[in-house]
Formats: sequence, structure tokens, C-alpha cells
Amino acid sequence: EVPVLTIDGPSGSGKGTISRAVAARLGWHYLDSGALYRAVGVAAGWGDLDLDDAGALVRCAFDTEVGFRDDAGGEPRVLVNGNDATDELRTETAGAAASAIAAIPAVRAALKDRQRAFRQPPGLVADGRDMGTVIFPDAPFKVFLTASAEERAERRYKQLKDKGVSVTLAGLLREILARDARDASRAVAPLRPAEDAVRIDTTGIGIDEVVGRVLKVAGA
Ligand code: C5P
Repeated sequence: EVPVLTIDGPSGSGKGTISRAVAARLGWHYLDSGALYRAVGVAAGWGDLDLDDAGALVRCAFDTEVGFRDDAGGEPRVLVNGNDATDELRTETAGAAASAIAAIPAVRAALKDRQRAFRQPPGLVADGRDMGTVIFPDAPFKVFLTASAEERAERRYKQLKDKGVSVTLAGLLREILARDARDASRAVAPLRPAEDAVRIDTTGIGIDEVVGRVLKVAGA
């Protein structure tokens, strides 16, 4: 069976950066499941869909084409229905839309097979919220990354400032706490570590050190 390393955790825990680095080191495929939820949220916005219309959102989840294209050295580009939506997907608006539609069970079900299809030889690093609990419960390697809310807000602040986006640290912290609360308290797929996940707190730890610890979990 094709091995999977699941990396779950809250937004800003460093999941994306760590998962991509680990996938590159192992030579495995990479699934950014958050990008799928964000893509559906963005496509719903393009289509002027009502975020309370579950039926329309489920159709949107089935119909939205999401493609990942490697960008040498950089973050992979994400194509939504053929359009490069990489920058739009990273906005807080897209994150909030993703979080809202991700609370709809039928939307999560609609994206299940699409996520599992990423499990291809020689292996998969799956980044998300429920990779180890719902999508790949049989994964042989599971990690749960955390970091303090303050540190996650600071990381996000630096990323956005580098991109020239004007935001405040306090505003970002508020958004992160609100999203954490919503992600943890929702009835569907609440964020929680799989019982067999190795927990790694990345607060105050450098990327290379975290990558090394995660590789060890995968036996590398
Ligand atoms: O990881 P990212 O911040 O891109 O995810 C955006 C939102 O999508 C999260 O806040 C979460 O609500 C939702 N999500 C999810 N399950 C996943 C990945 C993301 O519910 N596997």
C-alpha cells in the first residue's frame, strides 16, 4: 500500500511550509487539502452563491476544477477552473469562506474521493485538518502540528507584510482565534489530533528543526 504521512493542525502552525519541505525531501506527492476548500469558497464567490445554500455549495464542490502546478522554487500555483487563483486563495476572505463551507458535511463528503486520489506511489504527504482522522485514518505516519496563537498571528503578519498587504497584528490574532474556535467547535470534523498522531509544538522552533522531526516520524 502507498504510504501516507498526514500533517494536521490549525492555520499558521507552519503546516504548508513544513509539508512541502518534507514532501520534497521524501520525493512524495503533496496534497494541500485546505486549497481545495479555499478553491470551492472562491468559486462560490465567483458564482455569487449564497453561503447558506448547502445544495448549491455541494454542486460547486463537485464542479470546481482544481489544478496544482509546480512553480520551481516557489509555492505551487493553484488553478481554479483554469484560472490562476493562487493569490486570491491566500486571502483571509477565502480562508473565511473555506471555513464556512467546510462546516457543511455534504461538501466534505464531496471532496473525499478527490483527496484520496492523491495517494499515488511512491507516497503522499497530506496537509490539512482531518487527514489523519477522516481522509487517511489508516496512514502509517501521522503528525499534529501546533503553535501558540500569538506566534501563528506573527508568522501570518510577516507573510502578508512581505507581500505588501496592510494588516494589523491584533486584527490577525482576532481572526485566528475566531477561526480556531469555529474549527474546533463545529459539529463536523472538529479539529483534533488523531489518537496515533505525534504532536509537535512549533512555537519558537525553526523550520529545519521541525522538518527534521517530521521526517523522523516518517522513518526517514
Ligand atoms: O489550511 P487552510 O487555512 O488553507 O484551510 C482553510 C480552511 O479550510 C480551514 O479554516 C478549515 O476550516 C478548512 N479545512 C478543513 N479541512 C481540511 C483543510 C481545510 O476543514 N482538511
